[in-house]
Amino acid sequence: MTKVSLKSGLEIHQQLDTKKLFCDCPSVLRKDEPDFEIKRKLHAVAGESGEIDIAAKHEIEQGREFIYQGYDTTCLIELDEEPPHEINREALKIVLQIAIFLNAKIMPITQIMRKTVVDGSNTSGFQRTVMVARDGWIETEQGKVGIDAIYLEEDAARLVQKEEGKTVYRLDRLGIPLVEISTSPDMKSPEQVKEVALHIGNILRSCKVKRGIGTIRQDLNLSIKGGNRVEIKGFQNPKIMIKTLDNEIKRELEILGKKKLIQSEVRNALPDGSTEFLRPMPGAARMYPETDLPLLKIHRNLINDVKKSLPKLRSEVKKELRKEGLNEEMVKLLFKRNKVEEFKEMLKVINKPQLIVKSLLIFPKEIARRNKLKLDKISEIIEDNLTDVLRFVKEGKILEGQVKNVLMKLVEGKSLKDSIRIEEPSENVEEKIIKIIKEKPGLSLKAYMGLVMKEFKGQVNGKEAMEIIRKLIK
Ligand SMILES: [Zn+2]
Repeated sequence: MTKVSLKSGLEIHQQLDTKKLFCDCPSVLRKDEPDFEIKRKLHAVAGESGEIDIAAKHEIEQGREFIYQGYDTTCLIELDEEPPHEINREALKIVLQIAIFLNAKIMPITQIMRKTVVDGSNTSGFQRTVMVARDGWIETEQGKVGIDAIYLEEDAARLVQKEEGKTVYRLDRLGIPLVEISTSPDMKSPEQVKEVALHIGNILRSCKVKRGIGTIRQDLNLSIKGGNRVEIKGFQNPKIMIKTLDNEIKRELEILGKKKLIQSEVRNALPDGSTEFLRPMPGAARMYPETDLPLLKIHRNLINDVKKSLPKLRSEVKKELRKEGLNEEMVKLLFKRNKVEEFKEMLKVINKPQLIVKSLLIFPKEIARRNKLKLDKISEIIEDNLTDVLRFVKEGKILEGQVKNVLMKLVEGKSLKDSIRIEEPSENVEEKIIKIIKEKPGLSLKAYMGLVMKEFKGQVNGKEAMEIIRKLIK
């Protein structure tokens, strides 16, 4: 690691898993063709200080035309043709949970603000944002790190195309609730930055947030002694932070060494750990009050309710799962596929944690690969029936080793009753095997096994069949 006097802060944006923030539209990103398109041109207005923001000016100088694509899942609010509805209460509750986990002070009364955005990613030219809490902290190995502020805000429209003078956005993402968490510039090493990112990530994933690529964005502020403030945007993965930070420190030291003044700027994080210039740093002229909405009052009662119903931290749930006897890989898989709740439900049916994880996550994958079917579809069929199948195991109607076979039959469209039908009695099996061997004498054990399995369509105890064949071909 490069040894310098570093001051670094994190800003994290995470999408919440609720409807949109100021309307009732669903927060879903669409892959299909849009239902309509509208064209707009934006112009910058001065903020409350009377100045036009430097970042705003930078965008406007490029004289762009913006095209917005909408769906039947977007409404007039995303088009800025109707005033916003009251703030989404579910989203507010989730942000309060996060604020409590981060030891922050919740604001009893707060003002929804408009933040000037002129890259066209908001049809209104601003983004609505409200400070929900401030002055929190988290503990790290290298000491406390302050949490400056926690905001609830709306996500921007989704960029789908950008060319000379023309930018195309989709409205499906506009208005999805985001929590913004900004830490104080307390972090003194790249390692500490990573620790804080992981800690906050643990809290976020314990609450009702969206998962997957693009649902979390992490920006890093840093300044080294003698240099200006630089913001690096767009980390998807905390793993790359240390490398990027090291590279950025090197880059700045080089510039400082040449005695050039660095401008405060926003840079983009690239997957290889390097960065590129994005735009000048926005100034303070960006915010003014949202006059379409009343002051937001966060009542004591609401805060108390949220405190009583705080979710368990993900790290605690992990510990519990390991206590159940699951290995690290299985625990990871449960979280990755978001099946912890289902797992716990099944555990009430039968106390066989490994069998449950296999049935929930591993068998469906194997069956999907074998039958060349879509995993989602297979998982759905299996989950609909798994409680019953596990109950049969508990009652001794089927053996643990037969579960995969039963699930396979369910996927093939058989009824639950047919799927758990126990194989034919062994006399019958032996008779059929004798017949098979008589018909095609002189084959190998393996070849006969193949024929037998084909004859019984897999519904036979393999070991038993093997012994019968072995006995007969001796
Ligand atoms: Zn809407």
